[in-house]
Amino acid sequence: MNLRIPGPTPLPPDVMAAVGQQMINHRGPEFAAMLRQVTAWFQYFYETQNDLFILTSSGTGAMEAAVVNTLSPGDRVLAVSIGVFGDRFGEIASAFGAEVVKLRFKLGQPADPEAVAAALRDKGPFKAVLFTQNETSSGVTNPVEQLCAVIRQAAPEALILVDGISGLGAIRLQTDAWGCDVVLSGSQKAWMAPPGLAMISFSPRAWAAYAQAKMPRFYFDLGLARRYAQRGQTPATPALPVLYALHVSLERMAAEGIEATVARHAHIGAYCRQRAQELGLALFARPGFESNTVTAITLPKGFDSDQVLEQLRVDYDIVVASGRDPGVDMLRIGHMGYVSEADLDAVFDALRVILGRG
Ligand SMILES: *Cc1c(COP(=O)(O)O)cnc(C)c1O
Repeated sequence: MNLRIPGPTPLPPDVMAAVGQQMINHRGPEFAAMLRQVTAWFQYFYETQNDLFILTSSGTGAMEAAVVNTLSPGDRVLAVSIGVFGDRFGEIASAFGAEVVKLRFKLGQPADPEAVAAALRDKGPFKAVLFTQNETSSGVTNPVEQLCAVIRQAAPEALILVDGISGLGAIRLQTDAWGCDVVLSGSQKAWMAPPGLAMISFSPRAWAAYAQAKMPRFYFDLGLARRYAQRGQTPATPALPVLYALHVSLERMAAEGIEATVARHAHIGAYCRQRAQELGLALFARPGFESNTVTAITLPKGFDSDQVLEQLRVDYDIVVASGRDPGVDMLRIGHMGYVSEADLDAVFDALRVILGRG
C-alpha cells in the first residue's frame, strides 16, 4: 500500500524489523542507554539544550502536557490558530480552565505576525501564546521565527508553546535561537516510527512556570519525568517497540544531518506541488507558506474528494487523506519521512487517469 496520509507514515524496512524485537527491562541499563541516545538525537533536531522528554502517548498527549505543566486555571492564553490542530491546542487549554483568547486565521493562510503583535498589545497580558508550526489540516507552514520574534518583542514574559508535531524532523525549527519554550512532536510523523511516543522540550522559563502551574496533572507531570530521566527511565512503562524504531530511524536521520534532512523535504514538497500543478490542481496553501510535509489540493469542479479518495484506494492501493474541516473539499497528500518521488508519481499518475486528464 502507498500510504500517503500525513501520519502515521510508512516505516523503512529496518525500522519495521526493529519494532518486532523482544522486550527489555525498562528499568535496566540497556533501556537507559537507548533512552539517553534517542533523547540526544531529538535535542539535535530540535536545536535545543533544553530538557526533552519522551512521553508514551499520541501527539495530543504532548499538547496536554504542554498546557498542564505551565498554566493555572484562569491564566490568559492567546491561541493562534490556522486550522484544526491550532484549534485543538486552544481547546485543551480551555478544557483545563485557561481563559483562551482565540486568534483564528482563514484556512489556507499562515498566521500574520503583525496581527499576533496587535492581539498581544490590545488584548494582553497573556501568560502564554500557543500555535502550530505546520498546520496539517491545511498544508500551511507558519512563519515560526517571525512569530517568535514579535511575541518576544510585544510580550517578553509570555511562554511560547509550539505544536511542531507534523513539522519537526522535516521543517526547520530552531528551538533555542528562536526562543520557543515548549516544542512538541510525535513519533508517527516525520520521524518514520509508529505512533505511540510524543516528544516535548521544556525551557528554563517553562520550568519557572511549572513551579507555579496549578492545573491538575499526574500522568503528564514533567517534574516526575525529569526525576526519572536522571536515572535513564520514564515514570510509567514506555512504548518500547516505538523507542526501538526511533533508535533506528533517528540514527539514520542524525547521520544525514539537519540541513540535508530539511533539504530533502523541501525537495519532495516542491516536487509534489509541481506534479499537482502540472495536472491543473489548485494548491490550498497561500503561496510561499506551503508545507513541505503535507500538500492540500482542491479538485476541479465536478469531482468529489471522497469519491476520488475511494477510487485511489480501491483501484490503485493508494491512501491519501481527506480534508479535516467539514465544508472544505480537499485532498491531502503526506510526504514526510520515508517517501520517494516514485511514491508521489504513483499518486499523480493515478489522479491523471481518475480526473480524465489523459
Ligand atoms: C497529527 C497532529 C496532531 C495530533 O497528533 P496525534 O498523534 O494524532 O494525537 C497534532 N498536531 C498536529 C500539527 C498534527 O499533525
